[in-house]
Amino acid sequence: MDYVKLINCMRCGMCLPTCPTYKETFLETASPRGRVALVRKIQEGELDQSERLLEYLSLCLDCQACATACPCGVNAGELVAEFTCERKAGNRMGFMEEMVLRKLLPHPDRLETAMIPMRLYQRMGLQKLVRTLGVLKMFPKPIGRMEGLLPDLPEKPLRRVIKEDMPARGETRGTVGFFLGCVMSLIFSDASHASINLLTALGYRVITPKNQVCCGAPNMLAGDKAGLKTAARKNVDIFSNLDVDFIVTDCGGCGAELKKYGHYLEDASSISFSNKVRDISQVLAMHADALKLLLKPLLLKVTFHDACHIAHSQGIRREPRDLIKLVPGLTYRELENADACCGSGGTYNIEKPEMADLILHRKLGTIRATGADVVVTGNPGCMLQLKKGLMDYLPQVEILHLTELLARSMDA
Ligand code: SF4
Ligand code: SF4
Repeated sequence: MDYVKLINCMRCGMCLPTCPTYKETFLETASPRGRVALVRKIQEGELDQSERLLEYLSLCLDCQACATACPCGVNAGELVAEFTCERKAGNRMGFMEEMVLRKLLPHPDRLETAMIPMRLYQRMGLQKLVRTLGVLKMFPKPIGRMEGLLPDLPEKPLRRVIKEDMPARGETRGTVGFFLGCVMSLIFSDASHASINLLTALGYRVITPKNQVCCGAPNMLAGDKAGLKTAARKNVDIFSNLDVDFIVTDCGGCGAELKKYGHYLEDASSISFSNKVRDISQVLAMHADALKLLLKPLLLKVTFHDACHIAHSQGIRREPRDLIKLVPGLTYRELENADACCGSGGTYNIEKPEMADLILHRKLGTIRATGADVVVTGNPGCMLQLKKGLMDYLPQVEILHLTELLARSMDA
């Protein structure tokens, strides 16, 4: 761990009002400043790694809102994640963790096969029955949480049905490689299908290599740096063989991770890979005039939630808003604290359900205040979390990925 990053904190407190866990607790130990101080004291040997102390640190969502606010460039979320990663790296992986990280995620075919029982569970009406009868109360809480977050799955994962090479429609403007995130392919396939359609409609040939693997974000969360580097190497090698202008993704979490491959692998091909990575909103916004000609009116009131991995990690805020406002007839309502976390945080909403719910409710309150019919965002984690929250508390409000909204307007 870079000790200099820890001592850069001058304890000004400017990060405190942006931190979702501090806003809920008003505890210094649940604030970015407090977390930096705790990690520093551990590193300096003045504090032992007690369970209680690790519990304080584990409450951080790594949303990086504090990094945006900090005048000294301190990134408390990243420091905590790095500390946790280093600590876990010395531990032996549990059976389930090893199964998921080593046997499933690096193999898209196996991952897709593992989802078949879930699809059958929905198709056979069991999900409805289970939810109606409240059977899940008999299971451990995390199982119930996971089940509750599961939206309707598509007929087939997008990776199975999409053509690897999609030609541009009309005059070719360029070629892009499409990074299809696991959750996007398995759960939000309509959104990624819409992303590819929009790119081809704007004149891009889109290549989606079917042998690409998970971006490695779950490995990072679990402290599995070796697994992360293996995934990064594989993806860099696959995309380096293609002659593409950009590597585009519509998954905010994947985009943030892919942009770090150069830092992880430190060689020319991975640095070039990371430099080519773009969030879908960045590429679409480059062709706003052409896109506008394709859009038809939608009489909707729409608001936008900034995913942490897009706004704080990648610094992208203007492009998605500009794109939403291109849709004729649409009324845009800005969300208060739009870049405040929704409480998803990877698996945080399963591991820390109480805090995740408090954060989610704050977000739902701001959504309600806009009076919007649709919430748009750009990250599958936020979509899962908000979909569940909206279904329970604001069922009249729909959640859409940015590209789903634009495709809906294009097809209207
Ligand atoms: S992390 Fe940054 S904003 Fe927060 S107290 Fe330290 S210097 Fe100030
Ligand atoms: S990353 Fe988010 S939750 Fe963690 S300290 Fe920073 S603002 Fe708070």
